[in-house]
Amino acid sequence: MTADILIVGAGPAGLACAIRLARAATEPRSIIVLEKSAHVGGHLLSGAVIRPEPLKRLLTPDEFATLPLGPVVARDSFHALTPRCAFRLPFVPPKMRMKGLPLVSASALGRALGKIAADLGVEILTAQTASEIVWDGDRVAGVVSDNEKILAATTVLAEGPAGLLTRDLLARHPELGGANPQTYAIGLKELLEVPENPEAAASVAHTFGYPLGLHVYGGGFIYHVEATRVALGLALAIDYADPAVDPHERFRQWKRHPFVQRHIAGGKVLEYGARLVPEGGWHSLSRFNAPGALVIGDAAGLVDTMELKGLHLAVESGMAAAEALLRGEPMRPQDLPSLASLRRTANYRAAFRGGLPLGMAAAGLAWVTGGRIPWGRIPQRNDRDSLRPRPGFSPVARTPDNGPLDLGLDADLYLSHLRIREGSQHIAIGDPAPCRECFDRYAAPCTRFCPAAVYEAADEKTIRIRPENCVQCRCCTLKCPFDNIRWQTPLHGVGPDYREL
Ligand SMILES: Cc1cc2nc3c(=O)[nH]c(=O)nc-3n(C[C@H](O)[C@H](O)[C@H](O)COP(=O)(O)OP(=O)(O)OC[C@H]3O[C@@H](n4cnc5c(N)ncnc54)[C@H](O)[C@@H]3O)c2cc1C
Ligand code: SF4
Ligand code: SF4
Repeated sequence: MTADILIVGAGPAGLACAIRLARAATEPRSIIVLEKSAHVGGHLLSGAVIRPEPLKRLLTPDEFATLPLGPVVARDSFHALTPRCAFRLPFVPPKMRMKGLPLVSASALGRALGKIAADLGVEILTAQTASEIVWDGDRVAGVVSDNEKILAATTVLAEGPAGLLTRDLLARHPELGGANPQTYAIGLKELLEVPENPEAAASVAHTFGYPLGLHVYGGGFIYHVEATRVALGLALAIDYADPAVDPHERFRQWKRHPFVQRHIAGGKVLEYGARLVPEGGWHSLSRFNAPGALVIGDAAGLVDTMELKGLHLAVESGMAAAEALLRGEPMRPQDLPSLASLRRTANYRAAFRGGLPLGMAAAGLAWVTGGRIPWGRIPQRNDRDSLRPRPGFSPVARTPDNGPLDLGLDADLYLSHLRIREGSQHIAIGDPAPCRECFDRYAAPCTRFCPAAVYEAADEKTIRIRPENCVQCRCCTLKCPFDNIRWQTPLHGVGPDYREL
């Protein structure tokens, strides 16, 4: 099969690219979008407060009116948490100000953009995983999907964070990678139904501190998307050193904090999911232009980490890719106005390697000096290299289910609406020997860092896997200290089926 334009990933980046191309086409063109989830939006998860300007440029006013944008943020606040207390900062840091911006669910946004694209003639093939790149020498000539080659003059990689095709492209073309390796956070999110609270509607709160402490970068968000619905989550960087860190348990600890309880007491969880966020920023961005391919959105690392926003950059980069294809020229950074903000905070994330106080001081300085201080480039390392051995450490058992608001991992996973296919095996452990060493040195961190309990200790030296639990966050491809997990992008539309995340 051949396509004029082939796009991998029906997220905001891929769909923005498809919509822009389809609208500009003066003659029939085949624009194919491959999406691994069973429905467009089924694998999309975000906060989210969105900067809507790029969508306004992409869409007609009538199309824009069909987007499922929620209320505009009326009040925002920023809080430091200790184990029992919360301190509201007297001001919200400039980059964290959300007032006036709309709330949105990424899954719902994806569905709406998918419909607009389809109405313009874009062919979106769902449950269709692009499983490998077709190479013509060192040039991308297309992809393999369902054992069939799909060839195109240009393949647009819009597969989100830590995609395997982008990884293969950068392995073959290391010169296209950023100066720093990419570094990630894992974001765990739930949508809750809560007792009606009209006063809280359209308010957002962000937290830092407990339960992450001084040495795990990250924080929580609480978005009152409706009077009876709260979207909340905890994002934590996976370059942590302590192998005891268990993101899902930290998420639950955070939810039990009195400050968070005030927002959600009496509620019940409706949906759960997890996804990575590329956080390296400016120095970790990959090149957008590759031989035979363009890399856009989270696949390129386009997230403004300081404000945890990437939706606008995904849309901007999709449009910039489309413009480049229409011109028949390379993508230009100047077509992404929001890139300036990443440049201004180029060392922001790397500065947090020295802990929370140093990171916050560096963030403030960077903002005040327009990114001139800290100068140069603070190096980053791969997330898998950050663990420090803890011989003799015995992992603590996960806390059991504790009511409709405090679900254990298995109960939470039930709310990811997992689609399962008998015999679908996309995960394997490479070699048992590193696992034995890993149990001794790190007490098998995969049994904790996976937000879907895919990895279990079968005994004191062996891992048992439950691939059917996988929510496809790809954390395990980055955090196993021995790089001993063989994870392939699943086929046939299996995995989560997010509806409002
Ligand atoms: C917890 C959390 C909170 C966030 N909060 C905000 C926020 O408040 N505001 C904001 O602006 N941004 C936020 N972000 C970031 C934002 O969600 C992302 O930057 C944005 O979704 C990136 O869009 P994308 O199209 O590049 O990638 P994605 O949204 O990940 O889309 C990629 C698509 O490609 C598909 N795909 C991947 N691989 C393949 C393959 N091999 N074959 C076929 N299909 C494939 C996936 O299924 C998916 O549908 C948040 C992210 C997280 C995790
Ligand atoms: S799979 Fe990786 S993280 Fe898990 S025990 Fe084996 S080496 Fe350790
Ligand atoms: S198995 Fe890997 S990709 Fe799947 S949910 Fe666990 S960490 Fe994420």
